[in-house]
Amino acid sequence: MQPVYMDHGATTPVHPEVVKAMVETMEKSFGNPSSVHAFGREARKLLDEARASVASLMGASPEQIIFTSGGTEADNMAIFGAARGMRLKGKGNHIITSAVEHHAVLDACKALEKEGFEVTILPVDEDGQVHVEELEKALRDDTVLVTIMHANNEVGTIQPIQELARLAKARGAVFHTDAVQSFGKIPVDVNELGVDLLSASAHKIYGPKGVGCLYIAKGVKLTPLSYGGSQERRRRPGTENLPGIVGFGKAALISQAEMQAEAERLTRYRDRLIDGLMELPHVKLNGHRTNRLPQNVNLSFHFIEGESLLLMLDMKGIAASSGSACTSGSLDPSHVLLAMGLSHEIAHGSLRLTLGRGNSEEDVDYILNTIPEIVERLRALSPLYEGKEAVTSCTQRR
Ligand SMILES: *Cc1c(COP(=O)(O)O)cnc(C)c1O
Repeated sequence: MQPVYMDHGATTPVHPEVVKAMVETMEKSFGNPSSVHAFGREARKLLDEARASVASLMGASPEQIIFTSGGTEADNMAIFGAARGMRLKGKGNHIITSAVEHHAVLDACKALEKEGFEVTILPVDEDGQVHVEELEKALRDDTVLVTIMHANNEVGTIQPIQELARLAKARGAVFHTDAVQSFGKIPVDVNELGVDLLSASAHKIYGPKGVGCLYIAKGVKLTPLSYGGSQERRRRPGTENLPGIVGFGKAALISQAEMQAEAERLTRYRDRLIDGLMELPHVKLNGHRTNRLPQNVNLSFHFIEGESLLLMLDMKGIAASSGSACTSGSLDPSHVLLAMGLSHEIAHGSLRLTLGRGNSEEDVDYILNTIPEIVERLRALSPLYEGKEAVTSCTQRR
């Protein structure tokens, strides 16, 4: 049996053309892009081309792209850089974020609290959506930074970034969005969204791990996180990770060409999975039904531990996740699901399936055939399930 990988939200397999471009770079273009000789010029050319490809996929100009070691570093660079930069200018020390952000954002904001910043965490509704009115209420004259993700990594819900950014910028705050999950999957245009800062990562779009980028709009000042050479406009000094960056550029080019058809195909699979699995009793969909990423399915199975479900699926060759990859291994339920009002018990029974390029219609059939019997077996073992057959829906706390 072929294994079925449905954990593309955690990471994606590297596209063969990306591997080829990276190997070629290491074999033939080992020069330092800062060197003036032919080897350096060859490396510089590859660096420039990759920057143009990544910029093009988000409607930016190449000089607005700073390559980083991934989405996490891009988030940190944006948040620390903008917050400290704005405070230096005497603008204030108030930051706004949301309750469903990736830990790269939440923990960076938490660290800034120790530097004297005040952080407001916006609530979300039961679909995981941030409401524009909530931001309106939270914005103050001393708000320096608003950071709200484009699409959620756990439940796939897409935020109204255009409205949120417009509001924040009208009050003089810098607006950052973590677009790691949406970039390359759905249209992401920095000008249309109207953001000042945007983070992306290569390994979520069939590129290599350890490389990402931060888009910085013209005129936005950031205090750098590190100091050294003049690479990346002094914003991210150090000799560039050329093979990784070339791989990122190649992955961006491929995504640009295939995005629309791929989004349509995966939306079909997503909806088949959601509709098929929702036919089981006591199942709840997490995240917005339609305003969600094409590749994301997240369901809670009442009376079941997500971890047991994962192990049983693994034995059947199905790779999925529960909560987010970063929190599995701990017994704390996902902060995203809790923020959406789920009880601990129901949050624990969550399963995330994230689709991608390698998945086929047969994979969807296989999962739709496999999950019902596993769920039935696990529920038969659960003391909580006895006599609960009559319960019609999962209850929510609010
Ligand atoms: C994966 C992910 C990150 C972290 O990106 P890395 O490149 O793994 O550091 C940040 N934010 C979101 C929403 C993600 O899904």
